[in-house]
Amino acid sequence: MKLRIIVNPDLCFGAAACVTVSPSHFRMNEKNKAEVLENNEDVRAGNPIYDRIIEADDAKKEELLMAARSCPIAAISIWDVESGNRLYP
Ligand code: SF4
Repeated sequence: MKLRIIVNPDLCFGAAACVTVSPSHFRMNEKNKAEVLENNEDVRAGNPIYDRIIEADDAKKEELLMAARSCPIAAISIWDVESGNRLYP
């Protein structure tokens, strides 16, 4: 399945819980905002990626949902690309 992962950089205050839960999909940048990675892939050409579509199996989906739930201010939203449904929050 394809999941769209969005971090709202205006809400993110750098708690880094998402990075702790899923370090292969989130990392903190120099602005102390969480960026979305795919399998540890680093930022593209220096532009922060706060919105990314990721190919996920059930295990990866659970990990991404756990990361989103761990965010204290719900700065991460997760969407099922094919159905268009928001999975979180
Ligand atoms: S847990 Fe939320 S506030 Fe903390 S770095 Fe991740 S997105 Fe930002």
